[in-house]
Amino acid sequence: MSRFDAIVIGGGQAGPSLAGRLTAAGMIVAVVERRFLGGTCVNTGCTPTKTLVASAQVAHAARRAADYGIVVEGAIRVDMARVKARADAVSADSRTGLERWLRGMTGCTFIEGHARFEGPDRVRMGHELLTAPRVFVNVGARPSVPALPGVDAVPFLTNRTILELDHLPEHLVVVGGSYIGLEFAQMYRRFGARVTIVEKAPRLIAREDADVSEAIRDIVAGEGVAVRTGAECIRLARHEKGVEVAVDCAEGAPTIVGSHVLLAVGRRPNTDDLGLEKAGVATDGRGYITVDDSLATNVPGIWALGDCNGRGAFTHTAYNDFEIVAANLLDGEHRRVADRIPAYALYVDPPLGRVGKTETEARATGRPLLIGKRPMSRVARAIEKGDTRGFMKVVVDAGTRKILGAAILGTGGDEAIHGVLDVMNAGAPYDVLQRAVPIHPTVSELIPTMLGELQPDGGK
Ligand SMILES: Cc1cc2nc3c(=O)[nH]c(=O)nc-3n(C[C@H](O)[C@H](O)[C@H](O)COP(=O)(O)OP(=O)(O)OC[C@H]3O[C@@H](n4cnc5c(N)ncnc54)[C@H](O)[C@@H]3O)c2cc1C
Repeated sequence: MSRFDAIVIGGGQAGPSLAGRLTAAGMIVAVVERRFLGGTCVNTGCTPTKTLVASAQVAHAARRAADYGIVVEGAIRVDMARVKARADAVSADSRTGLERWLRGMTGCTFIEGHARFEGPDRVRMGHELLTAPRVFVNVGARPSVPALPGVDAVPFLTNRTILELDHLPEHLVVVGGSYIGLEFAQMYRRFGARVTIVEKAPRLIAREDADVSEAIRDIVAGEGVAVRTGAECIRLARHEKGVEVAVDCAEGAPTIVGSHVLLAVGRRPNTDDLGLEKAGVATDGRGYITVDDSLATNVPGIWALGDCNGRGAFTHTAYNDFEIVAANLLDGEHRRVADRIPAYALYVDPPLGRVGKTETEARATGRPLLIGKRPMSRVARAIEKGDTRGFMKVVVDAGTRKILGAAILGTGGDEAIHGVLDVMNAGAPYDVLQRAVPIHPTVSELIPTMLGELQPDGGK
C-alpha cells in the first residue's frame, strides 16, 4: 500500500490546481486520472467547442462578407477535416501543457487509471492500493443518455462523440435545446448542415427568461435552424437515411429524418463507479455527492469538487471549488460556496452572458424590482459591428438598490456581463455602475445608460 498525504481522484478543472497548492505546502500527493488530464473542459467541453464555434463564426462572416463591402471570390467551403484538426490541436496543446506541469510537480505522483474507494482513506486502481488521510474527489460528469423509446436501436452522437466527426452531416437532429445543444446546432448550421432542434419543453433553454428564449430562437432560426419545441413524446427509430425522430405523439407522429442525431439532454455525475458506498460517502437522488458549504462530504477527510457535487456545472465553478478548499485548508480562511454569484455564458453567436437571478427568479422573491432593458439595435458598437441581434436586461432590488441579475444577449455579451458581475461581487448598489465612465464605443457603455432608465416592475 502506498501512503500519501492526499489523493486527488480526477484530473479535471479542480484536481491539478489543488495538487499544485497541496504540494507547495509540503504534502505528498497522488493524482489519479482514468482518461485525459484536463477532463471534460479541455478534451470534450469548453476548449474544443469554443474552438469549433470560432471556425463556424468565420464561415458565417465569410458568407456575410458582402454586407461589409468585402469581396470574396467564389463559394465558401468548409473543410471539416481541417476544422476538426484545429480543435483537436488546441485541446491537445492544453492537455499536454497540463500533463507536463503535473508530471514535473515536486511531491506529486501522477497515476493513470480508474480509482475506486475501498474505505474512507483508501483508493484502489487495479492492483495498486493508495491510502491518505485526505481524499479530494473531482470526477466530473458525462453525457446522460435518456431512456427515449428506440434509443437502444439507433446510432446516436453525444457531445463527446460528435467531436470525432470529420465530415459534415447532411441533416443533424439535435435532441435537447439547451446550452450544449444550441451551441452545436448553430455551429453545424454554419458549417453547412441542415439542422433541426427537437426540444421537449415549450421553449428553448427553458431555465432562462421567456424573452431570452425567444430571442435565441430568433437568432438560430434566422440562420436556418429548424426548431421543434413542445416535443413531448420523442421516439427514435432506424431509417434508411439515418434516424427517424418522432416529435409529437399527440397528433399521430410527424417525424423528422436526420442523417445524424445528437443527444444533448443533460449530464450525469461520474459517481456510480467510484465505490462511494465503501467509503460511506452520501449522494443525492441523482448521484451528486452531498457537500456542505465548504465542499466537505459527510465523511471527515473527503471533499468533492467540481461538477460531481452538483453545486456548479462550469469550469469556473469547478476551479472556484479548488480555491475554496485550498483557502480553507491551507490559508485558514472560511470561504463558502454560498458566497459565489452564479454567472455563465452560452456561446451561440452572438453570445448570452448571464449573472445572478433571472427576471422570473427575482420576481419569485416577492421583492419590489426595478428593471431595465435595451435592444442591441440601440447599442452603437453592435450597429458598427453589423450584428444587432439580442438585448441586454438588468433586474435591481428597488429597496437595497443592489443588482439581482442581468442578461446580455448580443455581440460581446460574454465579456460585457463582467461589469455587472464585478459590481455584484463588490456588494455595491447599482448607482456605482451607473456613474462609471465606460469606454466608447463598447457594449459595456450602455449598461450605465440602461441603469439610468430603470422602470418599476409592472409585476407581469
Ligand atoms: C460540450 C460542453 C461544452 C462546455 N462548455 C463550457 C464552457 O464554455 N464554459 C464552462 O465554464 N463550462 C463548459 N462546460 C462544462 C465544463 O466542461 C465542466 O463544468 C468542467 O469540465 C467540470 O470540471 P470538473 O473538474 O468538475 O470535471 P471534469 O472536467 O469532467 O474532470 C473530471 C475528470 O475525472 C476523471 N475521472 C472520472 N472518474 C474517475 C475515476 N473513477 N478515476 C479516475 N479519474 C476519474 C475524468 O476522466 C475527468 O478527466 C462544457 C461542457 C460540455 C460537455
